[in-house]
Amino acid sequence: MNKKEITLMTMTITVIGLGNMGRGMALTLHRAGFTIQGSDIDAHTRQRLSDEGITTLPPEAIGHSDVYLLSLPTSEHVRRVLKDAPGLLHRAPAGSVIMDTSTSDPVITRQLAAEVEAAGLAWLDAPVSGGPAGAINGQLGMLLGGAASTVERMRPVLEAMSAKTTHVGGPGCGHVVKLANNYLCAAHLLTTAEAVAMARRAGVDPEACLQGLNSGSGRSAVSEINFPRWVLSGSFDSGFTMGLMRKDLRLAQQTAHALGQPDGLLQRVMDTWHADPESLPDTEDFNCITRQMLEAANLYATECQEDDQQ
Ligand code: NAD
Repeated sequence: MNKKEITLMTMTITVIGLGNMGRGMALTLHRAGFTIQGSDIDAHTRQRLSDEGITTLPPEAIGHSDVYLLSLPTSEHVRRVLKDAPGLLHRAPAGSVIMDTSTSDPVITRQLAAEVEAAGLAWLDAPVSGGPAGAINGQLGMLLGGAASTVERMRPVLEAMSAKTTHVGGPGCGHVVKLANNYLCAAHLLTTAEAVAMARRAGVDPEACLQGLNSGSGRSAVSEINFPRWVLSGSFDSGFTMGLMRKDLRLAQQTAHALGQPDGLLQRVMDTWHADPESLPDTEDFNCITRQMLEAANLYATECQEDDQQ
């Protein structure tokens, strides 16, 4: 057995939060050879992962581990897992690493990271892009906030989980850049939908329009991935919800306000995403933000409906 294989087999990782993202991360790390256990407050979610061959534990039974990888909805959930009895701050062994892959509030992240380090543990914020598919295929994009020495220690874990990692600074910096990224993604969904709707009204086929955009300087991950995969196909099943994107925009706006940054386009984007929670509830796929604009331009009309209208 070579040195790398020994490192993988002897490193124990506890994945806490086994939802859309955490499940895929746990399965990927298990496949890569790490010793994995998973935990979630929801018994059905734990059972689903046990059925896929991973050891799972209720939160009160979490024991010693080298790494605690968190994939939780919000900073409040992260705070609870760390601090509320039986919190990791009180029972994780000295030197173990808390790695928060959730999209969290950077202000709270910096407070928690300081408490984690004061307790003799190491901190890494490691928010992700790439959705459930990226998590289960080990192809996430990861933004890292923490000490360079912690990034190096976590290198084998990061390599197994990701296609690309970018170390952007100390604790909290990963979460700051993740909010900046998600603001741009939320804005691109609106601008790309408006552009495709305009082209449709002018008689351009939406697929052809998208190909044109993707050969030009207006392209983005939204035009290259979201539109073909989830928007034009009408599948709207990316695994990332309206509720999570609304949370990320609120956090981006709070961060901008806290720093005294004047309101700009972020406010318009925020207002649009929060405008209609009744017809677009938090449980819907986040790509649905484009639907109303595209339906108004008749983008999903069948040929038969189009003939009827002529
Ligand atoms: P999810 O709601 O599917 O999963 C969260 C899981 O955490 C749930 O299973 C829930 O039961 C569990 N949980 C909540 N509180 C807990 C606690 N105290 N202890 C243990 N488990 C607890 O959410 P998700 O889509 O997997 O997203 C997780 C994080 O990743 C979020 O911060 C989200 O913004 C971020 N993210 C999601 C995506 C995506 O495409 N889904 C992409 C990038 C980033």
